[in-house]
Amino acid sequence: MKTWLAAVATALTVALASPVLAQDNVGWSLAIHGGAGVIERGSLTPEQDAAYRASLDGALQVGAEVLDNGGSALDAVEAVIQVLEDDPLFNAGRGAVFTADGRIEHDAAIMDGTTRDAGAVAGLTRTRHPISAARAVMENSPHVFLIGQGAETFARDQGLEEVEPAFFFTERRWRGLVRQLEREGLPVPARPAGAPAEGAMAAVAPPLDERKFGTVGVVALDREGRLAAGTSTGGMSGKRWGRVGDVPVIGAGTYASNVEGCAVSATGSGEYFIRATVARDVCHRTGAGADVQSAADAEIEDVGSIGGDGGVIVMGTDGSVGFAMNTSGMYRGRVAEGGNRLVAIYADEDD
Ligand code: ASP
Repeated sequence: MKTWLAAVATALTVALASPVLAQDNVGWSLAIHGGAGVIERGSLTPEQDAAYRASLDGALQVGAEVLDNGGSALDAVEAVIQVLEDDPLFNAGRGAVFTADGRIEHDAAIMDGTTRDAGAVAGLTRTRHPISAARAVMENSPHVFLIGQGAETFARDQGLEEVEPAFFFTERRWRGLVRQLEREGLPVPARPAGAPAEGAMAAVAPPLDERKFGTVGVVALDREGRLAAGTSTGGMSGKRWGRVGDVPVIGAGTYASNVEGCAVSATGSGEYFIRATVARDVCHRTGAGADVQSAADAEIEDVGSIGGDGGVIVMGTDGSVGFAMNTSGMYRGRVAEGGNRLVAIYADEDD
């Protein structure tokens, strides 16, 4: 009797202490973004439009496979962001924008909604997958946020793959930087060492427009009901002075909390997203009872009221997805267990 009672008491204690909210098995769910901004019908050729949709669809497929095979939300977030980091269409990993002095500095963050553990990195120049460095910070260091040379050393010690900085080079981002610096009357740095000869690399994607934020982000719910969020970016084209945006700032560009029922990844003008603590604020709204779409809408209205442009993707513990933006487009997609993969670009498209 005593043993039975003790077993019940232990089970109850474990259930109550568990950070994962009890819920019916809703299956897994996944949502992604590839940046928001001035993306209008007609600003992409049919080929470019199709290329973005194919990339988003391929990334969703990778995440769906991870979650379908019983992988965790964190595993799905990392795997999908790795794919998007390797895709030159997006401003993360290969294809990231340049700093004013012609370098590429990556920022990334990841967060586990069940424990509210988080990891972030800023200013990485050689780690192939900044999102994996962020995860290593979370899981294998006593810290949350590492920057610059130290972060790079940590990533190397963790055995993460390193590449030459030229690996991340794309012609369109370089041309975009040169145009931007000329317009702003700033000196144009030398073409980066190791970059392919001018004209050797086809510019598949449309030319860079600084009003386009190509950051990538993923929010996921796994079969165990665990939420996770991650974001990765090259930041803003022409950034100077060691500028870091919202992406790696936990609570600004990235946040997840099972207790409050949300996982969030943002894209947009980082300075405003930091000031509005966008991602944390969305979770505050869902924690207070808002559904994910209303929370996303209200938050974008709020960041817009101080001048911020961009969007958020939000996942709830029931697998529901909210997309919101105050720009004309956001590359985005979603898929849930047993459902179809959906991708969208323009703000007025069904998502
Ligand atoms: N939010 C990013 C930053 O400010 C930019 C983006 O979303 O593309 O660094």
